[in-house]
Amino acid sequence: MKNIVITGGAGFIGSNLVRYMVNKYSEYNIINVDSLTYAGNLLNLVDIENAPSYSFEYVDITDLNSIRQIFEKYRIDGIIHLAAESHVDRSIQSPDKFVKTNVIGTFNLLELVREYQENDKNCRFHHVSTDEVYGSLGDLGYFTEATRYAPNSPYSASKASSDHFVRAYVNTYGIDAVITNCSNNYGPYQFPEKLIPLIITNIMLEEDIPIYGDGLNIRDWLYVIDHCEAIDLVFHKGTNGETYNIGGQNEWTNIDIVNHICEIMDEKLNLPPEKSCRNLIKFVKDRAGHDRRYAIDASKIQSELGWKPKRTFEDGIEETIDWYLSNKGWVEDVKSGKYRQYHKSKRLQKINN
Ligand code: NAD
Repeated sequence: MKNIVITGGAGFIGSNLVRYMVNKYSEYNIINVDSLTYAGNLLNLVDIENAPSYSFEYVDITDLNSIRQIFEKYRIDGIIHLAAESHVDRSIQSPDKFVKTNVIGTFNLLELVREYQENDKNCRFHHVSTDEVYGSLGDLGYFTEATRYAPNSPYSASKASSDHFVRAYVNTYGIDAVITNCSNNYGPYQFPEKLIPLIITNIMLEEDIPIYGDGLNIRDWLYVIDHCEAIDLVFHKGTNGETYNIGGQNEWTNIDIVNHICEIMDEKLNLPPEKSCRNLIKFVKDRAGHDRRYAIDASKIQSELGWKPKRTFEDGIEETIDWYLSNKGWVEDVKSGKYRQYHKSKRLQKINN
């Protein structure tokens, strides 16, 4: 069995990736390393938590000694690194946490990979990053792997910094690493502070749908399982030291997304026109430094590794809405913070064993 660490495996993309890898690779022991911040939720993984090839390690990647113990306990063959503070608004409120987890946390992992390598143990490091490192686009053009980094928020600055450390460790110490920069993801198990689950769950609870500024900011949306498939490909087949952009070629303004979701949910919830979800839309003061447009040129991963997204946005968004509607318990637990009780019981169980 190969031991593969997925950091941040209790979060949105991480939990989808853990499930995908556990189901696909019976020859891998998947070790989920996560410190269970507000964004980490072990309820995301109840269906596979007892799989023999899955284990959970409650570890904060900012603590080098704790993470070193994982490297001593298992012989790690690969790391897919997703653990991060990931919400731009929170980075504007508390940038320090973003520096600690996204920069220092990544640095700690790189140090351990370097130590492994000094002992002749190879460990591939896949750094999962964002298109936000490239800054903001005008009306035309796309981010390619050669686009100059120009991060505008503390979140994207911290991710850009971690990307640079990975690059430096490849060039300076010769570690085996790849980087992926992906556009905005949506799908099941996403914490409802992010746009799409926020819209869906606020409609479910008849709460306001806040839209920043004029609602005309553009993002390139990708279904989370398409992202997992791209990570799988790059982790296994990506060339050492290379960066791959991942995107859906699927640009939407925020207001168009909200209207699209409202239309589907009006139909699913049988709402008459006078009670349309659109009545919940509220324009609010714009986010500071709000990037106007992101759009990815994903031709490199397509031509070199044969990846392209499988879901159309229309199918993916409908599947996503259906998932939230049929998982009201999950929505309630997350919105009320009750999911934390599950974490306490899991930790007690571990102590008692
Ligand atoms: P998320 O916020 O849903 O999950 C982050 C996970 O990391 C949580 O489980 C949290 O508990 C864990 N974590 C945070 N700090 C930690 C620490 N110090 N030690 C250990 N674990 C810690 O994030 P997400 O949306 O799933 O994003 C995952 C990764 O993908 C991030 O690196 C993010 O930058 C990147 N990314 C996200 C998107 C997107 O649209 N969500 C797009 C491109 C790239």
